[in-house]
Amino acid sequence: MPREIPPTAGLPLQLGDLYGRSEDLATVLARQLATPSVQLACSGTAAFLVALETLRRREPRRSRVVLPAYTCPLMALAVRQAGLDLVLCDLRPDHFDLDHHELARLCDARTLAIVPTHLGGRIADVDGAVAIARKVGAFVIEDAAQALGARQHGRSVGLAGDVGIFSLAAGKGLTTYEGGVLVAQSADLRRELAEVAAHIRQHRGWEVRRAIELFGYWALYRPLGLHYVYGRPLRAALRRGDPVAAVGDDFSARIPLHRLGQWRQRVAARASRRWPAFLADNTARAQSRCARLRSLGLMVLGDRGIDSAGTWPVLMLLMPDQAARDRALAALWQRGIGVSRMFVYALPDYAVLQDWVADGPLPCARDFATRMLTISNSAWLDDDGFDAICAALVRALTAAAD
Ligand SMILES: *Cc1c(COP(=O)(O)O)cnc(C)c1O
Repeated sequence: MPREIPPTAGLPLQLGDLYGRSEDLATVLARQLATPSVQLACSGTAAFLVALETLRRREPRRSRVVLPAYTCPLMALAVRQAGLDLVLCDLRPDHFDLDHHELARLCDARTLAIVPTHLGGRIADVDGAVAIARKVGAFVIEDAAQALGARQHGRSVGLAGDVGIFSLAAGKGLTTYEGGVLVAQSADLRRELAEVAAHIRQHRGWEVRRAIELFGYWALYRPLGLHYVYGRPLRAALRRGDPVAAVGDDFSARIPLHRLGQWRQRVAARASRRWPAFLADNTARAQSRCARLRSLGLMVLGDRGIDSAGTWPVLMLLMPDQAARDRALAALWQRGIGVSRMFVYALPDYAVLQDWVADGPLPCARDFATRMLTISNSAWLDDDGFDAICAALVRALTAAAD
């Protein structure tokens, strides 16, 4: 039977998640994140739009939003949709964190928000961004779209800045197929976020579509189903030479805004009973696999100190150079064993953003995009599959010497 490992470890649904009693999703999440309340949105990007709108109401004269130059292109589209100005900050070398020297230079009295971003479940340096933001009176929005469940200093990510956003999109962990979550430390900000979101209406068309998609996720998010709905389109995109379509980075320009429907909320609330055990299982597997990769001389992104406990949807590898990364992808990307890429380019290099995003040198963001690859941390990637990946990666490292 054909099999396909998903590129990230999403929480699979069970039949019993589709119906029956459940708690309210916002209540479940607030408890699991240990925060007084959370607010739901129809996507992580919609949550970001609500955050931008809310902060703009507070500081109408500030219009600049600083994003890392390597992040989800949807974030840039959201800044544009909010009518704000995008500023890109380069990364620090060999990491996805913002370069704090450059960040300090880019921020001033026009800066509305800085957006440190947790990628692949790994925890970003938010405290450094907060220190710079405080000096100029800007806000910090933590993009924790890929890090629901990650904790640092004993509390959930998303709470060290002013507002935190999470994604409930398929493949990012707990899912409503598309969905988002907002958190904030300050009770005033939570109230203001709710006021802004209160204007968002229900949209029957979107909700029917998303409910069907969530049902499809239940039916097909398993190795056989993924072969047809994920693996085949992926390979077709790669044959056409379209890596952006292959990773699903080809977004339409308008971000939909509507309420997250009740049925989908209840499905996720029921599935969330398995979520803590799922995260623990992922962490154990990731730790032993990271150790193995490092013993082979590979660079895997890890957590920042003992006080950090990220989540592990993927393992992020930085190869020594683009040639080695591309050799590894040539050997592995089409094999259906969970090796993939995250965002294909630094933001200015996406065709959809080119007319609008100002280009700059951004050497570290571009370097990160060209050297990174991801290995799925799905439980369906068994030891034989992981051994095959390790062997191909070692060949990709040494092939240059042949
Ligand atoms: C997925 C993602 C988003 C957007 O979340 P959606 O729920 O897909 O709208 C934002 N930032 C990052 C880093 C992401 O990975």
